[in-house]
Amino acid sequence: MDKNLAIGIDLGTTNSAIAVWLDGKATLIPNSLGQFLTPSVVSIDEHHHILVGEAAYSRLITKPLQTASAFKRFLGTEKTYPLGETTYTPTELCAMILKSLKSDAEEYLKQPVRDVVISVPAYFNDQQRKEVRQAAELAGLDAVRLINEPTAACLAYSLHETHDRRFLVFDLGGGTFDVTVVEYQDSFIEVRASTGDNRLGGEDFTAALVDAVMAKLNISADSLAPAELSKIVQACETAKKRTSAEVSVALPEPWAQSVCFTTQELLDIWQETLNRLSFPIRQALNDARISPDEIEELIFVGGATRLKEVQQMATRLIGRFGQISLDPDLVVALGAATQAACRLRDEAVEEIVLTDVCPFSLGIASNREGQHGVFSPIIERNTVIPASRVERFYTIHDEQDVVRIAVYQGERVWVAENVLIDEFEVDVNPAAAGSESLDVRFSYDINGLLEVDVTVVSTGKTIQKVIDRTPAGMSDADKLSSRHRLEKLKFHPRDALPNITLMEKLNRLYEEKLAEERHWIEQMILHFSRMLETQDDHKIKTLRDQIESDLKASGL
Ligand code: AMP
Repeated sequence: MDKNLAIGIDLGTTNSAIAVWLDGKATLIPNSLGQFLTPSVVSIDEHHHILVGEAAYSRLITKPLQTASAFKRFLGTEKTYPLGETTYTPTELCAMILKSLKSDAEEYLKQPVRDVVISVPAYFNDQQRKEVRQAAELAGLDAVRLINEPTAACLAYSLHETHDRRFLVFDLGGGTFDVTVVEYQDSFIEVRASTGDNRLGGEDFTAALVDAVMAKLNISADSLAPAELSKIVQACETAKKRTSAEVSVALPEPWAQSVCFTTQELLDIWQETLNRLSFPIRQALNDARISPDEIEELIFVGGATRLKEVQQMATRLIGRFGQISLDPDLVVALGAATQAACRLRDEAVEEIVLTDVCPFSLGIASNREGQHGVFSPIIERNTVIPASRVERFYTIHDEQDVVRIAVYQGERVWVAENVLIDEFEVDVNPAAAGSESLDVRFSYDINGLLEVDVTVVSTGKTIQKVIDRTPAGMSDADKLSSRHRLEKLKFHPRDALPNITLMEKLNRLYEEKLAEERHWIEQMILHFSRMLETQDDHKIKTLRDQIESDLKASGL
C-alpha cells in the first residue's frame, strides 16, 4: 500500500466528495458516474442490497421508507433509521458513504486507500467527532485527522492567496451552519474563532417552503403518504435552486399545478430562518474580538450559500460582498486533501502552517461563593490550539485531605449541564480551608489529546492524567509525538524569553524615568502583566509588538 497518498474527504450532510493531492495540487476524484458530488443518501433495495449516492437519491421519492438522507445531522444522538428489515445508526450510514467514496478512489487511483483526512463541522462535539472516526473505521479507513470544514475551505483558498488577510468563512450546507474567523499571515493560517449552529442549513429553507406550499394548498402533512410528502419536498428543493427572483414550485401528480411566491412572499417565508444566521456571526466576531469592518474577505462555502437571500443577509451583516471563486460544494474536499498533504509534508504546501481552535471550553468543577458544581473554564472556547493554561484552586474544608478533579466540557455555568469527560482524586495535606492550593494545568493539542497536570503547591508534587479523546485513529507513535509537543508548551508565557526581556526593559525604564513618562511606563507594565495572565500567546504578542513600537517611537 502506498502510505504517501494524501486523501481528503468532505462527508457532507447532503453531498460528499473525495479529493487526492497529486502533482502538487488537490484533485477531485469522480465517482463511478463521473460526478464529483456523491449524494449522502443510502437506500436498501428489494434484494437487501445497499445503494449509495445517486441511485439511493432517486429512491427518496419512490421508496422513502427504505431510504435515509441527512443522517449526518443525527450523529451523536440516539436516532436510528429502520430501512427495510434492518435498523441502522447514523454512524453506520455514514460508513456506507465513506466506503463508497473509498472504492471510487481506489478505482481511480488503482491502489488501496486507508489513511484519510475527514472534514467535520467546526461545531461538532466530541461524541459526533468520535462517531465520524468510528464510521471511517467501519468503512476500512483510518481517519488520521479530522479537520473543521471551514478551516479546510480556508486552506483551499489560502493556496491562492498572496497577501495577508482576515477571512470570515460563511459555510451553510444542507444541515449545518459554521462561521469561522481565520487569519492568514506569513503562510500561517490561524483560526481565531469558530461558531455555528448544527441544526441550521439549506434544508430549513426547503422545509419553510414546503410549509408555505401546504398552507397555500390547505393540506396538512398528516394527511399525506410519505411518498406524497417526498414529492412536495423534492418539488420545493428544485424550486429553491431557481435562477429568477420569484419561486415557482411545480407539483407533480396528484396535484399537477404550480404554486408561485413573489420575492417579498419568499422573504417572509424565509425571514425566521435568515434571522437565525446572525447569532453565530455575532458570536464568532465577539469571540475573535474584532468588528465586522476588520473582516477583509467573506468566503461562501456550502451549497445553500447559492441562495441570493442568504448572500444578501451575510453581506448586510458583514458589510462586504462575499466571494465564491472556488466551487462552494467542492472547496472543503479540496482543503481536506490539502491538509492531508500538509501532514505528509508535500513540498508545495510545506510553507503553510495551520492552527486551529478548541471549539468548546474545557474546565473543572469548583465551588464559588458557597455554591457547589460551578464550572471553572481553564481552556476557553476558541482558544488557539495547541494550548496550555494553568489556574489555581484552593481547598474548601478544614482538614480536607483529598480534592476531586472533575474535568468538563461545555459552556454552562453549572457543571451538571456540561459534559463530564473524566474525574480523579488528588491527595493534599490536611490544613485549614483555603490554605492548601492546587495548580491545575490543561494542555490540549490539535489531535484532541488533553493532558491534565495537577500540582499541589505546598509540596510541588504533580499528578498527570492524559485524556485521549480520540479512541480510534491515533497510533501510539502519534500520541507520543503529540505529548512531546505538549511538553514544550508547559510554561507560563511570563517565563517566555521575549516577554521576560520586555518586562525587564519596562522595569528598567520605570526606575530611570520620572513624572509623566514614569506613569506612562507604569501603565504599560500593568497592561502587559494583565495580558500575560490571559496566557493567550496571540494577544500577548500583539501587545508586546505594540509596546515595543511605542517605545521605539518615543526614542526609548
Ligand atoms: P452541502 O451540504 O454543502 O452539499 O449543501 C447542500 C445544500 O445546498 C442543500 O440544502 C441544497 O438545497 C442547497 N443548494 C444547492 N444548490 C443550491 C442552489 N443553486 N440554490 C440554493 N440552494 C442550493
